[in-house]
Amino acid sequence: MNDKVEIIRSARRRRTVSGRLVNGLLLVSAPLKFPQERLDKIITGFKLKFARKKLKAELDKEQNLLELASALNAQYFGNKLKLESIEYVTAQNSKFGCCNYRTAKIRISHKIGMMPKWVRKYVIIHEMAHLIQPNHSRAFWDIVSRYKLAERARGYLMAASMGMKEGG
Ligand SMILES: [Zn+2]
Repeated sequence: MNDKVEIIRSARRRRTVSGRLVNGLLLVSAPLKFPQERLDKIITGFKLKFARKKLKAELDKEQNLLELASALNAQYFGNKLKLESIEYVTAQNSKFGCCNYRTAKIRISHKIGMMPKWVRKYVIIHEMAHLIQPNHSRAFWDIVSRYKLAERARGYLMAASMGMKEGG
């Protein structure tokens, strides 16, 4: 993330602070008398937000999740799964992935995007299996174990997570 920041203070601006990226420069607009300390905190938040956005864009570009999910659907689910969408999320939550059973939308943590592909595959298969079994029932694990590296991947994630949950 580029750290160049330009702050534009304006008397016309009453309360809100806004930020946008222009060619790698973070342009911040703030009210004239907005306290600097509070503004610094907001700017830190902007930087984080834009860094996450950039990371997500990079991951989406280099790893086509939908393509991978389609291949896994064919290989492990007989092409029977109807997946609405699958995408990376960079929000700081404690899950590696989550699947909305009702909407068939899967979200994968950006942290998984930086792990080995065989681990990534496991997380995607795990979430895809939730399209059939919403909970972690025995039937669910039977499906997941079609992937031969499932156990190894769970071990990997456990070691990597240090308290992070495997996901919903
Ligand atoms: Zn799960």
